[in-house]
Amino acid sequence: MDFQTDKEHSLLMSMYASFAEEEVKPLAKEVDEEERFPVETVEKMARYGMLGIPIPKEFGGAGGDNLGYVMAVEAMSKVCGTTGVILSAHTSLCAAPIYEFGTPEQKQKYLPALAKGEKLGAFGLTEPNAGTDAAGQQTTAELKGDHYVLNGSKLFITNAGYADVYVIFAMTDKSKGTRGISAFIVEKEMPGFSIGKKEEKMGIRGSATCELIFENVKVPAANLLGAEGKGFGIAMKTLDGGRIGIAAQALGLAQGAIDETVAYVKERKQFGKSLAQFQNTQFQLADMQAKTDAARLLVYKAACCKDAKLPYSVEAATAKLFASETAMEVTTKAVQLHGGYGYTREYPVERMMRDAKITEIYEGTSEVQRMVISANMLK
Ligand SMILES: Cc1cc2nc3c(=O)[nH]c(=O)nc-3n(C[C@H](O)[C@H](O)[C@H](O)COP(=O)(O)OP(=O)(O)OC[C@H]3O[C@@H](n4cnc5c(N)ncnc54)[C@H](O)[C@@H]3O)c2cc1C
Repeated sequence: MDFQTDKEHSLLMSMYASFAEEEVKPLAKEVDEEERFPVETVEKMARYGMLGIPIPKEFGGAGGDNLGYVMAVEAMSKVCGTTGVILSAHTSLCAAPIYEFGTPEQKQKYLPALAKGEKLGAFGLTEPNAGTDAAGQQTTAELKGDHYVLNGSKLFITNAGYADVYVIFAMTDKSKGTRGISAFIVEKEMPGFSIGKKEEKMGIRGSATCELIFENVKVPAANLLGAEGKGFGIAMKTLDGGRIGIAAQALGLAQGAIDETVAYVKERKQFGKSLAQFQNTQFQLADMQAKTDAARLLVYKAACCKDAKLPYSVEAATAKLFASETAMEVTTKAVQLHGGYGYTREYPVERMMRDAKITEIYEGTSEVQRMVISANMLK
């Protein structure tokens, strides 16, 4: 066991921190208020090689590990939750399953552009009637000659519209239940594929969340990801990895809110003292930091298990559950310690509190994470 960050990861951390401070933080308020997808930030992340951190160099990636990748998501989310989820959905939910389950041809065709950030990725599993119960897929895919024909819709898809490559799940055989679900690589330009309603959200407002519509979309049979009927397993394994990314987003939000609060309570004076001199402030801050540090260890542990090719499904669920609930608690306390000013949009903590809430919901709600953890305990 070694809790010291090695030289390589320390260097990465400081590079990501300065990128976040210089390029991401100045735009965070505007991106939230205007509900604007930060196209320029995505282009800059691409230039820094940040859109393919854990993808091997032979496929155009940075050849890094998952620990380095979660450090990047954490650093971006400290200043902008929107940027954190764009990076996480692209890497964990689109590039990763193509890398893990793709054929050599699919990897050659799609990974270099995704890893270099020339193309952005997304993941479409959720439907109006299939959220937590993801097995209830209604989108269909029918094999006709050398292509599948997709019909149906997806809801709440992160990066929709800005993404070029989508990993999509559909029923190839309804009679087989979860064994009848298959995964496909769908391209933005395929005829019959369109983007529907854009959601108006409480938080992560710069991130695009839209409906996807499939009307007789012809997807080449060569774009079937994994074997026919193996889609549900691919979705679940992909979400295990994605949960580490969302846990890192939650961790960044919590630490970002603490940093803002520490600076604020040192400056703000009441009763002739700075807020930092009241014991309540000190104790609140201590609790916020202790929980955030505990969350960090869980997030890094889950990433290290994935890097070591050890099982990480329960570790990812534990990290996501604890980090997201910590983010919600810590950001709420940060608003409280800012008093009335915390409730205004002049300070970033209200945005961080709004952004934190979604981390308890997407990529499996907290209830789903509890199901995963307890099922492992009781098996
Ligand atoms: C901003 C945003 C971005 C998203 N991005 C993506 C994306 O990129 N790709 C994608 O595929 N999906 C995405 N989603 C969908 C997201 O993963 C789902 O919203 C989430 O999994 C919950 O599904 P649901 O909304 O249908 O809620 P429901 O399944 O209807 O759940 C409602 C409530 O009931 C609880 N519940 C349900 N079943 C049980 C049970 N058996 N026991 C106990 N409690 C239960 C849930 O925990 C929750 O609290 C996104 C959602 C949002 C809001």
